[in-house]
Amino acid sequence: MPNRLTISELTAKLGQREVSAREAMESCLRRIHRTDRTIKAFLSIDENDSVAQADAADEALRHGANHQEQPLLGVPVAVKDVIAVRNQPLNCGSKVLGHFRSPYDATVIEKLRTAGAIVFGRLNMDEFAMGSSTENSAFQVTQNPWDPSRIPGGSSGGSAAAVVADDCLAAFGSDTGGSIRQPAALCGCVGLKPTYGRVSRYGLVAYASSLDQIGPLAKTVRDAALLLRVIGGHDRRDSTSIPEPVPDYTARLDGQIKGLKLGLPKEYMVGGLDPGVSQAVRAAVEQLQKLGAEVVEISLPHTDYAIAAYYIIATAEASANLARFDGIRYGLRVDANDPIELYCRTRGAGFGTEVKRRIILGTYVLSSGYYDAYYLRAQKVRTLIRQDFLNAFEKVDAIVTPTSPTAAFKIGEKSDDPLQMYLMDIFTISANLAGICGLSLPCGFTKNPKLPIGLQLLGKPLGEETILRIAHAYEQSTSWHKEKPGL
Ligand code: GLN
Repeated sequence: MPNRLTISELTAKLGQREVSAREAMESCLRRIHRTDRTIKAFLSIDENDSVAQADAADEALRHGANHQEQPLLGVPVAVKDVIAVRNQPLNCGSKVLGHFRSPYDATVIEKLRTAGAIVFGRLNMDEFAMGSSTENSAFQVTQNPWDPSRIPGGSSGGSAAAVVADDCLAAFGSDTGGSIRQPAALCGCVGLKPTYGRVSRYGLVAYASSLDQIGPLAKTVRDAALLLRVIGGHDRRDSTSIPEPVPDYTARLDGQIKGLKLGLPKEYMVGGLDPGVSQAVRAAVEQLQKLGAEVVEISLPHTDYAIAAYYIIATAEASANLARFDGIRYGLRVDANDPIELYCRTRGAGFGTEVKRRIILGTYVLSSGYYDAYYLRAQKVRTLIRQDFLNAFEKVDAIVTPTSPTAAFKIGEKSDDPLQMYLMDIFTISANLAGICGLSLPCGFTKNPKLPIGLQLLGKPLGEETILRIAHAYEQSTSWHKEKPGL
């Protein structure tokens, strides 16, 4: 079944004409029909369009197109509902966008199309990417493929579940505080958050613009490296994108990590960490040592303040970004007698509880009299956190941590305790505040029940090559990534 292959495997078969893009696409659709009624990763799929794209890829292959020039030719990839795909619904997991369809392609989608990918499906997410469990979607609760009673993580829960369920070859998500890495960890795949500015945000609906990045969720480190190479790069439509050339991230995946220095932050291996997770991460660190890496303890002294700073900065930015959903320009409109009432009614009906909570929080921390005490102070803490990392990277090539303090929790377990939910982000949000890159990859399972555990590697700004190299060496020396849920 081509849907079960990695991208490297599928492109080899497509190149040899052992399988067609049409067969690959149809095997994904068959899989989705079979399993997604329970998993609920997808919000919608335009099947005719998917098959038409596949036929176009087959046609191109027949006319001599190849994977050197178009590395994703005929590869079905799916997209989180927060990235604009021309003529497809764009809801951000929210009711407020109504029947909105995107009039244009995001830059990453343009790049994927140029590389030959079949871009299909809208993947479930927490509303406006606010959440860690995908339970904040206005539409449906996605289940973890390893255990239907558990959450897939979030906010890119649909993306992670779809990759792990073999519904697609890879998926794209967004990460503002962990939303690619945490669901990748909880479902058992690779999730990469690039350095802030490595990937264009043009066409990504903004949650917190100074933290948001788009990145891939994939079955292997090599696939993630290939996808980053395709979507990375400067874009004149996103002034925060970095004008550095994009390296060939797959070129240096040779399993060699001898002599690399890894830092284990002492602030991360403490209370609240599930014993199963801690054990798996320690075993992974030993494995990295066996492969020749040197591991030293480091300190990231401002870690304790990361969650507070994040939930001030992210909500402040969200309160401004979400002001545009006013019932005039996009989607839902609840009619009223005057404009103010129209805004209030539309926003009251369109936004869910968590989004409202964050808009209110964000408006509060920016209000006059409180701005200095909250927002300004959080910005200063953010600088200290970034400095912690830059200091650490003077001594080490990468940092290794758990991705999430626990494995996947039960649906409903934390939904009425926002603070408990926010604490799930403790290991991931600092990377966004610091603007550095990070990835999560499978490093084991809890026993009873058997649930995936993620290992996080953090790298310096534009240090993707290094963390991919380390992740690849680890992955190739273990077999965690080959285990599949019994769906
Ligand atoms: N879980 C975090 C939050 O709720 C991060 C979300 C994200 O990265 N989009 O904000």
